[in-house]
Amino acid sequence: MEFFNLQIHGWYSKYKRDLPWRNSHNPYFVWLSEIILQQTRIDQGMAYYLRFTEEFPTVLDLANASEDQVLKLWQGLGYYSRARNLLFTAKFIQEHHQGKFPEDYNSIRSLKGIGDYTAAAIASISFNLEYPAVDGNVYRVLSRFFGISEPIDSNTGKKTFGLLAKELIKGADPGMHNQALMEFGALQCVPKSPNCALCPLNESCFAFANNKVGELPVKQNKTKQRDRYFNYLVFEFANNTWLRQRIKNDIWLGLFEFPVIETSEETEVGFVLNHPELGELTSLRNTSVKRISNWKIHILSHQRIHYRFIWFDLSEEIKLTDGLIKVNKEDILNFAVPRLIEECIIELSENDRFMR
Ligand code: SF4
Repeated sequence: MEFFNLQIHGWYSKYKRDLPWRNSHNPYFVWLSEIILQQTRIDQGMAYYLRFTEEFPTVLDLANASEDQVLKLWQGLGYYSRARNLLFTAKFIQEHHQGKFPEDYNSIRSLKGIGDYTAAAIASISFNLEYPAVDGNVYRVLSRFFGISEPIDSNTGKKTFGLLAKELIKGADPGMHNQALMEFGALQCVPKSPNCALCPLNESCFAFANNKVGELPVKQNKTKQRDRYFNYLVFEFANNTWLRQRIKNDIWLGLFEFPVIETSEETEVGFVLNHPELGELTSLRNTSVKRISNWKIHILSHQRIHYRFIWFDLSEEIKLTDGLIKVNKEDILNFAVPRLIEECIIELSENDRFMR
């Protein structure tokens, strides 16, 4: 932990960006900047921050603004309830805290629109209180460096990261420490392809040492996967089969596969045989189907491919149209194919159906 803090703090003193809210401990400015930056990136948020502080230099000026004025200034940021909460909270501070921003964590946390992270940021930066501010950037840095694979959006994960963050902030300058960690995640330990070779933490970083940078942090509620249904047509004739290269901007671009008919669900074979995409292969409609495999599922990061193979007993060669290529059984293993096609080819050879 000592090494971690030393490196992060040293890095921050060298590389931190010069941002206007960093030149002040004013809790109103810190609060404004944090709420605006929940909505947008720093380069875009900066203009909003400057407009707000120019129009309303103090929390009391904001408290005396009309809702229309605040919404107009917020225009373009979205989540307009956040702008309304800003105004509500400014008025609340005016009425219940004599116009002075509260100085203890619990009072700050109880203000409308201020959650754990924002309260910790204000408490630490403005009042030097030891509360760790753990945002997405911080989760990423801690997860990678310390090798924590508990999901960051699970209760146990949040607890683990929270306890670690509490340990790390002990004895440090709280405001500087929190900002250093956030800035390090925003600039150095970025979500995609961080430059680990130049990272001051690389000699002790778990993710770097174990090649897990792309796998950490873990999230349990992943993006919803899309279901697709692939009907593969496996033609056999005189030790040959037919493949097609994937040339559309889609998964497996450039790989080879059996001709495929994509349907919107698990359909009857008859539907596939009458599918307009069969095009030149219409003569197949009269060809007897030899065998149909069960549906299986192949999982990709954002897609679930449901697939099956329909085997045809050809009585004559099919025409080479629509990108089809004829492949001899001796050569088929030389083609780059998706894993599920490879499985089929292996099955073919094992069952001695194709390699006969
Ligand atoms: S070595 Fe790479 S993964 Fe580890 S903290 Fe540095 S940038 Fe992040």
